[in-house]
Amino acid sequence: MSGKEQTYIQEAFDSNWIAPLGANVDAFEKEVATYVGASEAIAVSSGTAAIHLALSLLGVTIGDNVFCSTLTFVASANPILYQGAQPVFIDSEPDTWNMSPLALERALNDAAKEGKLPKAVIVVHLYGQSAKMDEILMLCNQYEVPVIEDAAESLGSTYKRKASGALGKFGIYSFNGNKIITTSGGGMLVSNDIHAIQQARFLATQARDQAHHYQHSQLGYNYRMSNLLAGVGRAQMEVLNDRISARRKIFDTYYNELAHFQEVDFMPELLGTSSNRWLTALTINEDAFSSTREILEVMRQHNIEARPVWKPLHLQPLYQEAKYYSHGIQEHVAEKLFRSGICLPSGSNLLEQDQLYIIDCFKKALHMKEPVREMV
Ligand SMILES: *Cc1c(COP(=O)(O)O)cnc(C)c1O
Repeated sequence: MSGKEQTYIQEAFDSNWIAPLGANVDAFEKEVATYVGASEAIAVSSGTAAIHLALSLLGVTIGDNVFCSTLTFVASANPILYQGAQPVFIDSEPDTWNMSPLALERALNDAAKEGKLPKAVIVVHLYGQSAKMDEILMLCNQYEVPVIEDAAESLGSTYKRKASGALGKFGIYSFNGNKIITTSGGGMLVSNDIHAIQQARFLATQARDQAHHYQHSQLGYNYRMSNLLAGVGRAQMEVLNDRISARRKIFDTYYNELAHFQEVDFMPELLGTSSNRWLTALTINEDAFSSTREILEVMRQHNIEARPVWKPLHLQPLYQEAKYYSHGIQEHVAEKLFRSGICLPSGSNLLEQDQLYIIDCFKKALHMKEPVREMV
């Protein structure tokens, strides 16, 4: 927390706007929209809810296909199932670890031939790194398929000087506890389509028709953010740039200490983009002495919460039926990143001495002579 959250919460108490909506919600929406350069924003109860609303607004329904990045958290794709549609997963490419334009092109080509284009493409900006949006938007525009940017992890990142999440038809952000800023739980849907965000407000508040009695012609949701939590969000927005600096500094320290090891490759930052470095992620080459799993196990034994990279969704039991397009015919980039990737502790409040301890432990684990037995 920044310390100013209590002030905004107090304002909500003083005005007695505790229940959904109120001045903090309005202000938080404006502040986020201004920050990312979008015309409109609506604050909601989670990033997942924001994705669900976007799909709903695009008319995604039973039997439709929606394309989605495969290397991501499960919440990117679950709303596709909420709508009774099917995901088609698109592999990563090596330069950004995000959606491969090559795989996307093959998938769109096939879909066009079958006469069943997707209703939307959900592009994830993993760990703060923006995807190759020019290539992706060009393909999607060519086939007239709207793009939803899952920028849950990339608030404050930029792609060619534009905000990550403000380039597609819709963008979503998350304020879950683990994200770069948090409202304890919450999300935001942004768009330049003012009418669409008006419609989102309607759907997110139970789709109540304009009548004195309670009348409903459409299926709605209860997805709005509370005015108390929006107060937390306002204070968090004031420190977003500090948080990004802190995370980028953490990345730089890891990089300076570890990049010279030939077994280690850091997640790249694509030219023309700036990552918020939400998490520092790296891969261990396949010829390294210790495997990624062994290193993670050593870190765990030292009470360090390093994590593997997201498990690709096309490998998840939940999505085993789903179609998937690889980057190359024989090249599966997300699977390789999953096997070799490690996310290092990257909290904005990570102390320098703690980071040095993590680095020390990582170096030892990398060159451990005794094989480590994995404890399951
Ligand atoms: C956190 C996250 C979400 C979901 O956001 P919630 O606010 O937790 O619902 C979606 N996509 C990605 C990539 C995320 O990291």
